[in-house]
Amino acid sequence: MKVEVAYVRGRSLSLSSSLKSMLLSPMDPITPPVSLLDLRFEQMQARLAADGLRPIHARTLWKVLYRELDVAPQLREALSPPLARWLRDHWGGTVNLTTATISEQLRSSDGMTRKLLLRLRDGQEIETVVMGYPGRFTACLSSQAGCAMGCVFCATGQMGFVRHLAPGEIVSQVIAAQRLLRAEGNELRNLVLMGMGEPLHNYDAVMQALDSVCHSPGMCIAPSRVSVSTVGLVPAIIRFTDERRPYSLAVSLHAATDEERSALLPVNQRWPLAELMEACRYHSQRLSRRVFFGWTLIAGRNDSPEHARILVELLRGLDAHINLIRLNATAGFDGSTSADASADAFRNSLKAAGVPCTIRQYRGIDVAAGCGQLRADRLERAR
Ligand code: SAH
Ligand code: SF4
Repeated sequence: MKVEVAYVRGRSLSLSSSLKSMLLSPMDPITPPVSLLDLRFEQMQARLAADGLRPIHARTLWKVLYRELDVAPQLREALSPPLARWLRDHWGGTVNLTTATISEQLRSSDGMTRKLLLRLRDGQEIETVVMGYPGRFTACLSSQAGCAMGCVFCATGQMGFVRHLAPGEIVSQVIAAQRLLRAEGNELRNLVLMGMGEPLHNYDAVMQALDSVCHSPGMCIAPSRVSVSTVGLVPAIIRFTDERRPYSLAVSLHAATDEERSALLPVNQRWPLAELMEACRYHSQRLSRRVFFGWTLIAGRNDSPEHARILVELLRGLDAHINLIRLNATAGFDGSTSADASADAFRNSLKAAGVPCTIRQYRGIDVAAGCGQLRADRLERAR
């Protein structure tokens, strides 16, 4: 039986009823209380101006929040009396960065990956992963609590959709990661939206949060160092392109035929490969950009030379880079990751056909670093 489910800003999706429980109910989203981090720079300026403060105060406050990360009490004390009074009157004296607090922190055995479980004000828990590479650090951010897309191998998809994150809750993850790194004398410079949730399903909040952390009086992350990964929400990819968003686009492909992709990613039933690839080509051509494709290797499902051949055909003429990812086992999926030999052969087939391709190392598999796994592990432990 097929059911229609309200989905992605009023669009509807036809899926089998067994998937219904995993999908977004229109009643679900909860709006958490606003924090200062939920405001765009211009909104902060407008609020201050409406209360008679000068534009310079917005710059000062933005710097305290985004550059100094509001860590030292003396920063607050150094604020001018009108600004300190405004904060006290409107925000209870706290700048309130605590839209998210770290409730658990795990470090991988090689010390290079840290996984943070962050508790939000309504008790929801989300994951942020801080990954160290030679000379650089990257934070992997969540965009939603849970996810409505129901990809069969994904721990977040298996838990279903809970709610969208507010912009401030996405910004809070960047601040938590940056504070951790600064305390060690390091600096966060790269962001990927590859944690829990589908970023383009929470488009406005994600774009606002990214604009805020890239804004110049504050953290100044370079937009070219930010990557947004999507399961393939075609209208949102087109919007992202038409709005000329300055962030890289990564598309989770995982299969190159509709039959195989729909079996792994239910969203493919709504936006099949022909539409998805057309949107990717539009993005690449309109913005002269490379599109990054994610391919999670699953033994016997998508890792044969024939799979590689069909993938090469699908990508013909497109400026593309494939990231091959090892499957991380999850409780709700019985597939296993490809053998090293199959993964290498798959990569070599792509390379031989001229498709740039990298096998991504599993960062911190011992800290449950797969998307949604720490939260799932914790629920399991609690049970
Ligand atoms: N929703 C977005 C971003 C979050 S998931 C998306 O799907 O692209 C980030 C990446 O991790 C996606 O490519 C996803 O397919 C992959 N992924 C999810 N669960 C995984 C698992 N158990 N093992 C390996 N990759 C996984
Ligand atoms: Fe959602 Fe991405 Fe997981 Fe699919 S892989 S369920 S889109 S988080």
